[in-house]
Amino acid sequence: MGENPDTRTPLVVVLSGPGGAGKGTIARALVEGDDRLALSRSWTSRERRIDDVADAYVFVDRATFEERRDEGGFLEWNEFLGCFYGTPIPDIDDPRDLLLEIDVAGGRQVLERLPNSLCLFVDAPDDEELVGRLVGRGDSVEQAEARVREAKRERGEAEQLGYLRVINDDLDETVARITSLIGEHRRLNG
Ligand code: 5GP
Repeated sequence: MGENPDTRTPLVVVLSGPGGAGKGTIARALVEGDDRLALSRSWTSRERRIDDVADAYVFVDRATFEERRDEGGFLEWNEFLGCFYGTPIPDIDDPRDLLLEIDVAGGRQVLERLPNSLCLFVDAPDDEELVGRLVGRGDSVEQAEARVREAKRERGEAEQLGYLRVINDDLDETVARITSLIGEHRRLNG
């Protein structure tokens, strides 16, 4: 049976995983290669960092975030290291599937609201590799090790929630693998 573009409900694809595992690069490659997929732009109350790409987030102050949150304006939201992060409720007129780059606590909320979402945990091949990538990006060894501990906790939570784990040891292969997982998910749920 053909897919009717007027009635099809967009799917949500969630990408979680530790900083340094390559989520951001993968997310951009996925949307560039797929015009039926749009990258959601989160709101955050954190300060802009010098390594943020121009359209990384909508940067707002805490009060503006709380106002939108209290109006029910977020699909999911979380507080991480003292800052708010949230996914705005998607535009219902946009027929594209939506890619979210969020943490596992956010993924849990998405699954509660939209149980047929595809949740992927992008991981580095091992912890040593992860520490190396984080230090290379400017973290101190202590910060990197703290993130690795947090990654371990998130990995366990993701597994319980039924996330699929994707090891990013080669960017092109990882993007191809996720593209095929999204294709399969669309065939089953689209
Ligand atoms: P960062 O400050 O390094 O950009 O992001 C910190 C963490 O917040 C990352 O794990 C990132 O995936 C997560 N994050 C970014 N946007 C959102 C969002 O809208 N919702 C949730 N729950 N987490 C987010």
